[in-house]
Amino acid sequence: MKSMGASQRRPIYMDHHATTPLDQRVFEAMVPYFLDEFGNAASVDHVYGATASAAVDRAREQIASLINARPDEIIFTSGATESDNLAIVGVAEHQASKGKHIISAATEHKAVLDTCAYLERRGWRVTYLPVDHQGLIDPDDVRAAITPETVLITVMTANNEVGSIAPVAEIGRIAKEHAVAFHTDAAQAAAYVDLDVERDNVSLMSLSAHKMYGPKGVGALYVRNRNPRIRLEPMIHGGGHERGFRSGTLNVPGIVGMGAASWLCRDASIEATSIAHLRDRLWSAVSQSVPGVVVNGSPERRLANNLSITIRGVENRSLLIALREDVAMSTGSACTTMKIEPSHVLRAMGRSDTEAHETVRLSLGRFTSCDDADLVAERLCAVIPSLRRLSRIA
Ligand SMILES: *Cc1c(COP(=O)(O)O)cnc(C)c1O
Repeated sequence: MKSMGASQRRPIYMDHHATTPLDQRVFEAMVPYFLDEFGNAASVDHVYGATASAAVDRAREQIASLINARPDEIIFTSGATESDNLAIVGVAEHQASKGKHIISAATEHKAVLDTCAYLERRGWRVTYLPVDHQGLIDPDDVRAAITPETVLITVMTANNEVGSIAPVAEIGRIAKEHAVAFHTDAAQAAAYVDLDVERDNVSLMSLSAHKMYGPKGVGALYVRNRNPRIRLEPMIHGGGHERGFRSGTLNVPGIVGMGAASWLCRDASIEATSIAHLRDRLWSAVSQSVPGVVVNGSPERRLANNLSITIRGVENRSLLIALREDVAMSTGSACTTMKIEPSHVLRAMGRSDTEAHETVRLSLGRFTSCDDADLVAERLCAVIPSLRRLSRIA
């Protein structure tokens, strides 16, 4: 196989919400567990299994420490999709005799929305809270939606399209007051936001390694073990791994990678400051040179690496094609870009279908350089006016 010449420049990666590159240090931590240390973490009668088991324990500690949990509260899964499914269906089924009402939000990830829809088809009632024009839900709406039947509130920590950061602490307080379990999908937040399940009264939290510079195919679900203990119905049955919540031989290299990735995210809020600086530099260059461009989401409560912009008079697909050699960006979330439908997130924020089709999502990351940000800004500034001229002629 011929390797790609170093001179063959690839587009600058501006799609960290879809997935992040693996950190070299994470890769190096994983390598031994593919080769010499191949043991099954559940077969601890010999050194092979014991070594694997010790590595899993270490990863559990690293992930727990990132979110201020205890190691025995971390359940390994295949990713945030599975964690969301297990949290929502697991609580719903376990609590079915208490009530069949769930509160969620209109802007959740499909892994949450489609799981809620599945439960609706099976007799549960789901309230989808609206968001304001910045994509934020009002904690008072959460309070007002709670009924004696409510068993779960599921609201994401940070949105994967527009980067809005939910009032998680307020929702957690309300959930605790009403003794309702609170699940939050924190997949997008883990690398950039200081997470604390104790401070924020979170009952369940979904995480994904590949959104935090770890490998794909591994994630975790935090399940509160005390004060109060959360009970779940498992979805995958078998050997009783992960305290019976999730059977199946553990993906040891992946788990080691997720642990290392979590360790490297321990100063998330410091790293976020420098990424936000680049994001703001990119935005100010674009906004100063091109009129008719607006940022979506909240100016204050937003992910450091997110820049969702609507460019009046420019179809997002045309922009992506025009810049495909230079910038790898996205029209929306990775899952909705497969469809023609406009983003459900922008719709819920009150944007028109036209505006949704004029929106692109740029997401920066740990390895984005200042030169990258400047080059992306320069290309956007160069291409947008010419696309506008073209669309006026057409
Ligand atoms: C990426 C993502 C998921 C899905 O995670 P996987 O690990 O790819 O299954 C779920 N929720 C949010 C908010 C995400 O960004």
